[in-house]
Amino acid sequence: MTTMRAAVLRVMGAPAPYAASRPLVIETVTLQPPGPGEVLVRVRAAGLCHSDLSVIDGSRPRPMPMLLGHEATGEVVETGTGVASLAIGDAVVFSFVPMCGHCEPCAIGRPVLCEPGAAANARGTLLAGSSRLRDSDEAALHHHLGVSGFAEYAVVSERSAVRIDGDLPPRIAALFGCAVMTGVGAVVNTAGVLPGQSVAVFGLGGVGLSALLGANAASAWPLVAIDVVPEKLALARELGASHCIDARDGDVAAAVRDATDGGVDIAIETAGSEHVLATAYAATRRGGTTVTVGLPAPDRKFSIPAVSLVAEERTLKGSYMGSAVPRRDIPRYIALYRAGKLPVDRLLTHTLALDEINEGFDRLARGEAIRQVVLFD
Ligand SMILES: [Zn+2]
Ligand SMILES: [Zn+2]
Repeated sequence: MTTMRAAVLRVMGAPAPYAASRPLVIETVTLQPPGPGEVLVRVRAAGLCHSDLSVIDGSRPRPMPMLLGHEATGEVVETGTGVASLAIGDAVVFSFVPMCGHCEPCAIGRPVLCEPGAAANARGTLLAGSSRLRDSDEAALHHHLGVSGFAEYAVVSERSAVRIDGDLPPRIAALFGCAVMTGVGAVVNTAGVLPGQSVAVFGLGGVGLSALLGANAASAWPLVAIDVVPEKLALARELGASHCIDARDGDVAAAVRDATDGGVDIAIETAGSEHVLATAYAATRRGGTTVTVGLPAPDRKFSIPAVSLVAEERTLKGSYMGSAVPRRDIPRYIALYRAGKLPVDRLLTHTLALDEINEGFDRLARGEAIRQVVLFD
């Protein structure tokens, strides 16, 4: 058994600021040893993502109590029986959908849609169906997306971990687990952007800026960035955006159409708002594709003119975890980073200690940070 410090969420919906309400409680938690097909990982770095915040504020409900954190990296320190793909000492990035390898989505190469993986994530368990986490009263805690990275150690299915080169700094490696895999994947996997196609990215958080980097690497042009935070727009300009639009300034769809000769080929929505999605659709040209990556609250709906799909040959696509094949994509994106073609280090705005995590989520909620990473040493 492993004893460790961990950030546990016991109640959703605490009021901001979180520095005062402190929804994430640093507790001593025990981890049971890895079962068959599972590994124990010493966590080195874990990023703060808007999807964690959506659980904290209750807009994306999950079973409580839960040990949050799904964008993380670490080193394998113990393997359970039957583990074939990983060995002690391997550096790994976690993938927040475990892939069983046997269901139909896995069989057809769409492991993001793995059915046992989705069921385990909804239950808050590992792929094997149970929790390895116990609090100081021996009560089980739920796992977050099969990872639970806001802790010194994690037990995960080997199908939730991708081996990477060990010399990548953990603060950078963590970003590939969610922001980069989701944002770059939306561009190259879901949208299939080709050189010279115009792309507009709505929302410039970690995922949106990763999408921008991916579109730039794919030679999209023009490349339009939209947000409400001037500092994020300035960063987007440095990262390759040809046009930056402040969404507070009037008709955003019209501004995108002006920048792209009548409408953008591919719009990527990462804001998690049905209103932004409607704007993205309106900014897309005839024959264009609108990709939505953000996660609106479950009760939100949006409407479009139904005939536009046919008469204008439009496509509207969802993209979960960048439609990724993690064992293919994470090493590829890391190679692009090393080659200087995907400067994801520019997304890292803060590093923090585990005790500072509530303050970190305040910064994320206020739009004052892009990616913040908790470092463990
Ligand atoms: Zn995330
Ligand atoms: Zn599967």
